[in-house]
Amino acid sequence: MAILLGAIADDFTGATDLANTLVKEGMPTIQTFGIPTKDFDPGKAAAIIVALKSRSTPVGDAVQESLEALEWLMSLGTKQFFFKYCSTFDSTAEGNIGPVAEALLGRLGEPFSIACPAFPTNGRTIYKGHLFVGDLLLSDSSMKDHPLTPMNDANLVRFLGRQTTGSVGLVPFEDVEAGSEAIRQTYERLSALGNMFAVVDALNDQNLYAIGEASKDLKLITGGSGVALGIPENFRKSGELQSADGCYQWQPDGRAAVLSGSCSAMTRAQVAAVKDRWPCFNLEAIALDKDKNGVVEKVLAWVDKQDGDVPYLIYSSADPGDVAKVQEQLGRTRAGLLVEEAMGVIAAGIVKRGIGRLVVAGGETSGAVVKSLGVEAIQIGKEIDPGVPWCKTIGDVSLSLALKSGNFGNEDFFTKAFEVLG
Ligand code: ADP
Repeated sequence: MAILLGAIADDFTGATDLANTLVKEGMPTIQTFGIPTKDFDPGKAAAIIVALKSRSTPVGDAVQESLEALEWLMSLGTKQFFFKYCSTFDSTAEGNIGPVAEALLGRLGEPFSIACPAFPTNGRTIYKGHLFVGDLLLSDSSMKDHPLTPMNDANLVRFLGRQTTGSVGLVPFEDVEAGSEAIRQTYERLSALGNMFAVVDALNDQNLYAIGEASKDLKLITGGSGVALGIPENFRKSGELQSADGCYQWQPDGRAAVLSGSCSAMTRAQVAAVKDRWPCFNLEAIALDKDKNGVVEKVLAWVDKQDGDVPYLIYSSADPGDVAKVQEQLGRTRAGLLVEEAMGVIAAGIVKRGIGRLVVAGGETSGAVVKSLGVEAIQIGKEIDPGVPWCKTIGDVSLSLALKSGNFGNEDFFTKAFEVLG
């Protein structure tokens, strides 16, 4: 079957968020980590999302990697393309969102696309071209202090305009409220006026479904996962997508474990919720600094003694105070890398020892685990909590995998995950 939608995402967990949305709207979806190096059979997939780590890399690298991903998606006969970025438009005055979007548009030979990061379910709305986070303008939200991409301008028309060579227009809320035909006519008008992009206002999911419908004939759509809500229905109407259920099903097997390297508040609550009920091993960054191999061996020797059926947890998750002390002693980057590398080696060790169902908490931690296991692609299955689905690895390693970014999920996430999987 032809690939109907091919997406390029600028980070791993953002890619999974988009995949989850498409699956819930009935589109069987596969996510790859970069471009697969081995022969790749998309099987019954209607959508493929290439997850990159291009959000904060130098602009030139982000553009090149994204173009390579586009080339690969085009080689699969993909019909429509999507560039996925964060709903808080994480970028700087130089990029990477604008330059990547412009390069993709150029390669596709198209004059016009949209930019719509709105995600009302998570409080991200766009009105008169301004992005809001909850009740605050983006530039007044905590995103103004982001260490890599501080967002000091909520006016997306102006901000995206700075990042691109072409001009940027606005599809105002009145047109969006009037429905898909009005939106489509505004696209035409803005494109005829010479705009390369249009920011699209959106305050609720109904707006996003209408924008999706209006964007049927755009070769490239750019935005957050929200604007993908209406895309699968276009393919169902055209008869190209038959399924109403996009969820991959499989028979999970093997033992269950959780690796948690996230120190975010929600993950710490999730760790606390199972700590007294499951066998746990606390991985300490200071000990890793002294003797990394020794500590990893100790963890795996402990794993060998866990002969019950209960899931076990290996975690480095710690309170902000403890993390600050460790970072003071080792440096932020070194501390982070030590834990990530150890989690990667431990993941490979426990999979070798029969773990078949694995939850990983933490975006960077997930990246390290996926890399160490050599996972190149996953099929997207059942949702556990909003934005976090179970996935099935494709390729040499056979594993049910859930990758959770730090603040996602409710407090009972770890227990619920294995209940949902069955
Ligand atoms: P989140 O999704 O919550 O941001 P990440 O895995 O992306 O989680 O990031 C957490 C970072 O903190 C990783 O680099 C990880 O290696 C590091 N880390 C984890 N535990 C500790 C710890 N105890 N001390 C210092 N750094 C840690």
